[in-house]
Amino acid sequence: MTRTNSISIFLILNFLIAIASVPLVAQSDFDQHVVFANSLTTGSFYYSEGAALVPSELDLVDGKFPVEESHSVTPPNSLRLKWRSGTGGDWHMTLKVRQRYGTPELAGDVLSMWVYAEEELPAAEAPLIWLRDDKQRGTPSIRLLGSLLTLPPKQWTRLRLPLASFAGLVADTQEVTFDGRRLAAIGFVQGLDGGPTHTLYIDDIEVEGDAPATAAAPAAPTGLSAKGYDRHVDLSWTHSLTPVRRYTIYRSFDGKSFHAIDIQRGDRGRYEDFLGESGKSAYYKITAVDVSGKESPASEVVQATTRAMSDDELLTMVQEACFRYYWEAGHPNAGMAIEILPGDENLVAVGSSGFGIMALAVGVERGFITREQGVDRMLKIVRFLKKADRFHGVWPHFLDGRTGKVIPYFGKYDDGGDLVETAFLVHGLLAARQYFDRDTAGEREIRDTITTLWKSVEWDWYRRGPDPNFLYWHWSPDHGFYIHHPLIGWNETMIIYLLAIASPTHGVPPSMFHTGFASQSETAVRYRQGWGRTTDGDHYTNGNSYYGIRLDVGEGSGAELFFTHYSFLGFDPRGRHDRYTNYFRNNRNIALIAHEYAKQNPRGFRGYGDDTWGRSAGINSAGGRSVPRDDNGTITCTAALASFPYAPGGIDEGAQALLP
Ligand code: CA
Repeated sequence: MTRTNSISIFLILNFLIAIASVPLVAQSDFDQHVVFANSLTTGSFYYSEGAALVPSELDLVDGKFPVEESHSVTPPNSLRLKWRSGTGGDWHMTLKVRQRYGTPELAGDVLSMWVYAEEELPAAEAPLIWLRDDKQRGTPSIRLLGSLLTLPPKQWTRLRLPLASFAGLVADTQEVTFDGRRLAAIGFVQGLDGGPTHTLYIDDIEVEGDAPATAAAPAAPTGLSAKGYDRHVDLSWTHSLTPVRRYTIYRSFDGKSFHAIDIQRGDRGRYEDFLGESGKSAYYKITAVDVSGKESPASEVVQATTRAMSDDELLTMVQEACFRYYWEAGHPNAGMAIEILPGDENLVAVGSSGFGIMALAVGVERGFITREQGVDRMLKIVRFLKKADRFHGVWPHFLDGRTGKVIPYFGKYDDGGDLVETAFLVHGLLAARQYFDRDTAGEREIRDTITTLWKSVEWDWYRRGPDPNFLYWHWSPDHGFYIHHPLIGWNETMIIYLLAIASPTHGVPPSMFHTGFASQSETAVRYRQGWGRTTDGDHYTNGNSYYGIRLDVGEGSGAELFFTHYSFLGFDPRGRHDRYTNYFRNNRNIALIAHEYAKQNPRGFRGYGDDTWGRSAGINSAGGRSVPRDDNGTITCTAALASFPYAPGGIDEGAQALLP
């Protein structure tokens, strides 16, 4: 190949990558601009707080912003601000801008919101508004109505307040001023004293960018389909090629009278409508709304009916939903799943992609996609992994889906290999190598590439450090073993030792299972006590009973369930035992203990009970701690789903089978 050709191909490739990333630019649009669209909770808005000082008055629900369902710009609700500004009194209502893990910064220089009042609101009687960023840097209060002298009654009006207009006095000081990209709170406060009671509905608070106003409304959405499940209807439609801020979902029970029930982000092609019962029919249509608020004509109308489902059908439904995440969150260049939706659209997660690869095989096997689609996706993944950053054969925690470069998301020292994430990826890859077993060019390439990748993982390199008895979580070319995190069980890192011991090319001695993962050394005991804050199980072995169920191995009363589940996605525990325990039985006991804990619900969390199976990893989970005092009440559905294999006949049958 000539140099000219190489350059041309390089340019073409970059062009194709640029094309491929066009939908991604649109993906983050909603997160970059929308501050508030709807409250997920009825009654009051969770992310808010307010108070009043007599003689002023302020309507509150549980100390929070009341949610209004009879008025909205975006269905189904808005916020209701009702106040009376008494002389000498005061009131304030603060809306917290939800800071979600992985979401991008806001982009724009104008704060906008839609407001509605039944009666005219003079500017002098309107509230003031201030802003604060996530570093607690606030702005002075300015007039909510801006330059408006009065808010006209009975019509939604869009207020537009340039962020620069909040700068006021602060801009004259040497201090670092408010950063609108990191908006964390919006405060509404009493303005001038006096005046009657007023009510203002507020909806669709956004930070507006400089997107040009569109000339025409977007085209009607196409490809809408509806499928009824046990208690909900799944709507899906074709992604719009033009940028869409959001979709509006309309529902009817008679096929004639439609009501807007909700919105969906513009980067989605799916919506779940929970009707709450089987045998219920509904009709749906949707519209697309662009950045400047123009609404498209409606799609065609579709209809679906919920229906009672068997347990098997329910499990298939859940498997398909799990599969869909990895399939639909697949990065267009890498094929691997991004860390979180909504979130950074290029933050590719290495370990969870291993789980996604297993889900891909399930998707093919169950017919959610064709085998050819599965092969194409796997080829994209293994070709990407071959070129991606590795550190002695070990991938980092996060890769940039566009370039394959490491993203040190958890700080500058985490810019190298991550042995735990790599192991989760490798056991997914090995499962795929076994599943895609046909004698076709595509499936051969999948198997051969996986073999090459697997054999080049230098598990033994990660043994280096002050104590060679352990494998270490991280290594970086710039910082070496600086993070210094030895892998010590009981937890999800068992699979790392198993894969390292089993490696045909860079293996470690089998004795490391005992000196590392199950170590009884002082280092290991202190490590377990350090994060578990208990001596129960601090020697790997435990030996206590919890709720009458014996725990051979495991810290505290077994810790969060992902400790138990993750290693055994790739390693079948049935019949596996060592000097410490029989692992299938131990896993089952941990599942039963976790279920009993949820059932007894000692901390009184809402939703806990016989139908919940304990704690596991997830967004807003308790973070892997072993003891109930760290429980924050998050229900993670994988806790139940991944425990089913250990008690397939239900928890009572599982408990019966266990009794010594
Ligand atoms: Ca709304």
